[in-house]
Amino acid sequence: MKKSGEKRVFKRRPVTSGSRRGGRKVEIPEGLWTKCESPACGQVIFNQQLEENLRVCPACGHHFALGARARVAALVDEGSFDECDRALRAVDSLGFPNYGARLGVEHGSRETPEAVICGTAEIGGHAVSLAVMDFTFLGGSMGSAVGEKIARAVERAESGRRALVIVSASGGARMHEGCFSLMQMAKISGALQRLAAARQPFISVLTNPTTGGVTASFATLGDLIIAEPGAMIGFAGPRVIRETTHQELPEGFQTAEFLLERGLVDRIVPRRELRGSIGTFLGYLARGG
Ligand SMILES: [Zn+2]
Repeated sequence: MKKSGEKRVFKRRPVTSGSRRGGRKVEIPEGLWTKCESPACGQVIFNQQLEENLRVCPACGHHFALGARARVAALVDEGSFDECDRALRAVDSLGFPNYGARLGVEHGSRETPEAVICGTAEIGGHAVSLAVMDFTFLGGSMGSAVGEKIARAVERAESGRRALVIVSASGGARMHEGCFSLMQMAKISGALQRLAAARQPFISVLTNPTTGGVTASFATLGDLIIAEPGAMIGFAGPRVIRETTHQELPEGFQTAEFLLERGLVDRIVPRRELRGSIGTFLGYLARGG
């Protein structure tokens, strides 16, 4: 029994991050919860729930970044992925300041040792050659190893009579590799031309963000171009365009929805529906081939 007059003492738990709701401070222990990135939402989401929902906010549908391994698992028929060219990785051929050291850290600390993973798989029972970019590796930038891996994925589709599916998430060419990076655009585009001549379909999936040399080459060369909701898709950033053209940009500029209206994107598909939709589209394309 509590004695009358005895004071109960509540100790404040140590916290590392927090947010404010309705004027009251809400403390968020780090590692358990994530606050929705969408400024209009701000929902606090249990991390496990976010992962189970393929990193899509259950309140507003905002699509968080998804790592390449998780993306593959979400996209292909279970157990069908067979990784190729896993050991292929970038080298610092130009001696770019700090690049070699950065690569050493990235290569040593990751399950995904480059900004793309490639392999063969099945989606909805259809054989595909798959390449999935990873924005968390140097901004998903396309250096010589990324370009070579994607070009080989295209060639694997052609030689194996498979459909090609590439999921892009990239800041563009990798500036640390100069022209070696830029030439990947032409190399992959050439491989895609041969794939088209072989009448094998290519589905390009654009996720947030898809920009620069990736947008300017293979990402926008798909027979079918699918985007995730809200994805930022463009070549240069809006600030550069505004300063170069001296014009105000229209609302929603460079979003998937804006580009759907104008015909660059064929379909916007929420992440949870991607596997089913791609399987359906591959069925149509296979019958048409
Ligand atoms: Zn949200």
